[in-house]
Amino acid sequence: MANKDFPLIFERGQEGRTSYSLPMLDVPETDLDSEFQDVYIRTEAPDLPEVSELEIMRHYTALSNRNYGVDSGFYPLGSCTMKYNPKINEDVAGLNGFSQLHPYQDPKTVQGAMEMMYDLQTSLAELTGMDAVSLQPSAGAQGEWTGLMMIRAFHEANGDYNRTKVIVPDSAHGTNPASVAVAGFDVATVQTNEHGLVDLDDLKRVVDEKTAAFMLTNPNTLGLFETDIVEMAEIVHGAGGRLYYDGANLNAIMGYTRPKDMGFDVVHLNLHKTFTGPHGGGGPGSGPVGVTSELAPYLPKPLLVEQNGEYFFDYDRPSSIGRIKPYYGNFGINLRAYTYIRTMGAEGLKKVSEYAVLNANYLMRMLENEYAMPYPQHCKHEFVMSGKNQKKLGVRTLDIAKRLLDYGYHPPTIYFPLNVEEAMMTEPTETESKDMLDSFIDAMYTISEEAKNSPESVQEAPFHTSVKRLDETTAARKPILRY
Ligand SMILES: *Cc1c(COP(=O)(O)O)cnc(C)c1O
Repeated sequence: MANKDFPLIFERGQEGRTSYSLPMLDVPETDLDSEFQDVYIRTEAPDLPEVSELEIMRHYTALSNRNYGVDSGFYPLGSCTMKYNPKINEDVAGLNGFSQLHPYQDPKTVQGAMEMMYDLQTSLAELTGMDAVSLQPSAGAQGEWTGLMMIRAFHEANGDYNRTKVIVPDSAHGTNPASVAVAGFDVATVQTNEHGLVDLDDLKRVVDEKTAAFMLTNPNTLGLFETDIVEMAEIVHGAGGRLYYDGANLNAIMGYTRPKDMGFDVVHLNLHKTFTGPHGGGGPGSGPVGVTSELAPYLPKPLLVEQNGEYFFDYDRPSSIGRIKPYYGNFGINLRAYTYIRTMGAEGLKKVSEYAVLNANYLMRMLENEYAMPYPQHCKHEFVMSGKNQKKLGVRTLDIAKRLLDYGYHPPTIYFPLNVEEAMMTEPTETESKDMLDSFIDAMYTISEEAKNSPESVQEAPFHTSVKRLDETTAARKPILRY
């Protein structure tokens, strides 16, 4: 894969070049005794390229330039909320008083860090309406599993052992049914109606005395607000089930409505999405869970609590589902989310949701003449368009996504949700300017014209990236990570 733009460092190097200089020896020189000599002293030098500091700098800079991230360009990857991650978050996370802490330190010596975590819990409780929050889960998916385990513990505490199924909509994010299965429940699917919302009649049909929970995200994965949510909550609660809120779409509703007010009992949030933790590439996440007081006894332990101005970890929680992660959550990501919340303030977070919704609707309306919109009503923070018009011309959604790379954009999420043909799930986020949205719209129009007049320029794209079309399955299952 070496090419002229990217000569691999292993193919370079000249004997004797170095990129380091060691300090002078300032301790007495010593020989390892012969017992260790065989074990620790290698007989041959490792086969590493011998390069100068400048060469190694260029190698890593070239590697980093092959990456695409929110700091390099527009990234409308629906559901993932790829918004700008303010750099003040990094400054705060890098402060010695935070970054040099040890998780086993006596809580008395880390009261400031604990206060930050406690304030974050409180802010998240306020934003969701929930009564108690744990920061332990390290991702949305782990939050889902944690929430389901708490719901099971709740039912069992009531002597209710036959609630074996969890209902999820057919448009649900893949982690929802996966978490249901991993938590040992059966998945029951509820259909989406022609308006893109949960079909209430189907929900009534699926809900029964075996229902442990109903998992929903609102706005849903089509970017549409579930206006019947209060009635849905009544149906599920009426049958003894509990409502789980997948908080990945909170970016649409902050300051306007809250999961608990809609009737939800448990929620997870994705701090790496809504609250600007850097994400992508499987980096660290944070998926705190919030619950109503009814479910609070089952939260993971220890729970961070405050008494008379002192913060401590409460291990004395007999009904807890137990510890679900070492230490106390992904502290660094929680700290970034806290910084973001304090930077924005309550009014700022409300504006975030306003602009997120405005940007998505602008994009949707500007694109609807060229791309099919299966659900034409106003959207929330994202919308799902369909490439079915282009497919008739022999250009598939995958081709459109690849062509977008040539124009310098990350494509939307494609072929998801599954119930939309040739889906392109598009989430511009609030941090993009109108100018950026307009240039993306231009690119989408250009691609639509190309599909009509020169389809091969889309079908064979990308032309301008360092690698062309990859076998994505093999790349994920058998990645080549070393030279
Ligand atoms: C991202 C996402 C999840 C899963 O969250 P992770 O933090 O990636 O585990 C769940 N549901 C929805 C709707 C999402 O967008």
